[in-house]
Amino acid sequence: MIEQLTIDRIIAAADVVEVIKDFVSLKKRGTNYLGLCPFHNEKTPSFSVSPSKGIYKCFGCGKGGNVVNFIMEHEQLSYIEALKYLAKKYNIEIEEREVTAEDIRLRNERESLMVVTAWAQRYFTNNLHRHTEGKTVGLTYFKERGFRDDTIEKFQLGYCLDDFRAFTGAALREGYKLEYLVKSGLSIDRGGDDAIDRFQGRVIFPIHSISGRVIGFGGRVMKSDAKLAKYINSPESEIYHKSRELYGIFFAKQAITRADKCFLVEGYTDVISMHQAGIENVVASSGTALTPDQIRLIKRFTSNITVIYDGDTAGIMASLRGIDLILEEGLNVKAILLPQDDDPDSFARKNSSSHVMEYIEQNESDFIHFKAKLLQEEAKNDPVKRAGLVRDVVKSIAMIPESITRAIYIKECTRIFDVEEAVLYSEVAAQRRAKMEKVYGRLEATVGVEPKPKTPSMPGFVHRVFCEEQEKELLFFLLKHGTQPFYTVETDDDESESETVTVGKYIIDEILNDDLEFTNLVYKKVFDEYHKLIASGSDIDSRYFLNHPDSDISRLAVDLLTSPHKLSKIWEKYHANIDEDEDFLHKAVPKAILAYKGKIMQIAIKEVSDRLKSLDSQAQPEEVNELLVRIKTLTELKKQISKELERIVF
Ligand code: ATP
Ligand code: MN
Repeated sequence: MIEQLTIDRIIAAADVVEVIKDFVSLKKRGTNYLGLCPFHNEKTPSFSVSPSKGIYKCFGCGKGGNVVNFIMEHEQLSYIEALKYLAKKYNIEIEEREVTAEDIRLRNERESLMVVTAWAQRYFTNNLHRHTEGKTVGLTYFKERGFRDDTIEKFQLGYCLDDFRAFTGAALREGYKLEYLVKSGLSIDRGGDDAIDRFQGRVIFPIHSISGRVIGFGGRVMKSDAKLAKYINSPESEIYHKSRELYGIFFAKQAITRADKCFLVEGYTDVISMHQAGIENVVASSGTALTPDQIRLIKRFTSNITVIYDGDTAGIMASLRGIDLILEEGLNVKAILLPQDDDPDSFARKNSSSHVMEYIEQNESDFIHFKAKLLQEEAKNDPVKRAGLVRDVVKSIAMIPESITRAIYIKECTRIFDVEEAVLYSEVAAQRRAKMEKVYGRLEATVGVEPKPKTPSMPGFVHRVFCEEQEKELLFFLLKHGTQPFYTVETDDDESESETVTVGKYIIDEILNDDLEFTNLVYKKVFDEYHKLIASGSDIDSRYFLNHPDSDISRLAVDLLTSPHKLSKIWEKYHANIDEDEDFLHKAVPKAILAYKGKIMQIAIKEVSDRLKSLDSQAQPEEVNELLVRIKTLTELKKQISKELERIVF
């Protein structure tokens, strides 16, 4: 327990901006600070921090609270643990009992695992500095590698003795449960209460979470035994999800914000050697191919990533996929090729810091030039290979979500490869279409079947009202989810026969039943054609509109299916995980219809009121009356729609 007085002191000391800045890159906006929300995936910042109120609030996902809530939520800590975290940050002392075996038992699994890994790190580090074997084998190795004392300390490097059970035995004697030793991967279960050390005879690289807690380990072999893997890593566990972590992020995050750039390298030693050379904004995806989650982790701090590739071209081709992934997440990517036979580790060790920085500055190039440089030699005099190279670059450009950025790169590409811009545009469009078809196909048939959602019907005197934005939203659902089953109707009195109505038919019916009509001509074309297809009973192939001969229609389809974020703000946050939530469409589609009808009401009210105002004194009383009745009808409907809209929450 922590005394109330201490709690008050901690909360008084903790500056909400300062605390959150450790995890989120914040920019000042008036009296508040704004950044990308760490609790959901977003492209435009809606996460706001108010230093005067001491709170944060995300206008995208709704998460909000005070500084303690933030740490609890972000670091998955209990209230007490969050307070301890803050106390540590602000050097406030908390008196605490010794951790007993009982305490260990009582903590939840995650916490127990973290306690084990934190202890293991201290144990391994202690070995490295105090144990004879640790010193002669481990420490000597690190020193020979050129690691300085302060570096070894900073990264909390360690050593695991070359003994089957030295670590596991010590941990058990300390009261740590075998269960957690095994779950954290530090010990390997051999059955019958026996377990051995996973990292025996290896130097240890602890892997830190973004907040600096040890969640896993990497171990490099010391013996020259060909049977042993050079590097092994902690397995997946409750606290260590490889695909979501980046080695070095804790030590790099502030430097990344400062430089507004992050270097991406291969492994532990690359990160450490770069640090030693004075370049601290560097992380590694350690042992796995780069994942979208890892890119999003970087995105919290910067939108600029520079990938550093080893000097042997053979290995590069396989890792180029990383570039496309980064582009796909909407980040800017550059790349650097190191001299032949160098990796970031060896290069940073061989050269002075100033030379390393100079090299980076002079050799960094955007991904187009990078790919071009890599492949140009062999493609130079071979038109077929050249075409392949262009296609390769175009494929990368097609990954970029923003059309303006794509346009800039297409221009660049035109210049470098001397290809016509129009050709590149159509190639990019084709690539995007092909990519979307994959997603399109996958999204089908994920929705369960429920009763038909009801929306109020429109008065007969409103037919065409200009509200493109809402029309476009409906088209999005029509094209992306039109073929998914939406609800069933009984077609027979004894309920034995039923018919499934698709999302597409529901939308079409909702609009036709109210005698409404789209005002945007391209939208109307798609709507009418969709209607005709349904009416004729044809199966609507997902590719139909994407490959439509009318280029206005195909472009619209590509646009709608690739950039849902361009739709109105209310949907933005839901599109990200649309295929994870089966319930989504049952709320979203009626909501889009209601939003459409609500907008129509709003505009119609304005139009009728304007007409009323423009009537002169000679106007017929009947006409005035009629307009007044219309306004009343419309206003009532508008109110009803607003209420319905409010009822639908996600
Ligand atoms: P050497 O002294 O032979 O060069 P090294 O320890 O430098 O060995 P490399 O084979 O050069 O290791 O690997 C380069 C980087 O890749 C290292 O930073 C290492 O951390 C990382 N790495 C290699 N294999 C793995 C692996 N299986 N898991 C995680 N990281 C790895
Ligand atoms: Mn190496």
